[in-house]
Amino acid sequence: MNDTAGPSEPETTVLQSAMRGLACKCPRCGQGKLYAGFLTLAPSCDRCGLDYAFIDTGDGPAIFIIMLAGGIVVACALIVEV
Ligand SMILES: [Zn+2]
Repeated sequence: MNDTAGPSEPETTVLQSAMRGLACKCPRCGQGKLYAGFLTLAPSCDRCGLDYAFIDTGDGPAIFIIMLAGGIVVACALIVEV
């Protein structure tokens, strides 16, 4: 009769996973750390063992930080110039 995955594991919605990711926690369990360093993704969750290889972003976080720091530097340069 019951053809769902299992009664012990509640269904995780996309919104729940996104909020856990924004909080730098594991998207599946919400307990383990997502990052091993400032921009280094952990290889897997230390609580539930979820392999993070499928969410490897490559150079995405580094580019984001470079663009953010670049904007701040340009804004400061314009302030000094004016
Ligand atoms: Zn986890």
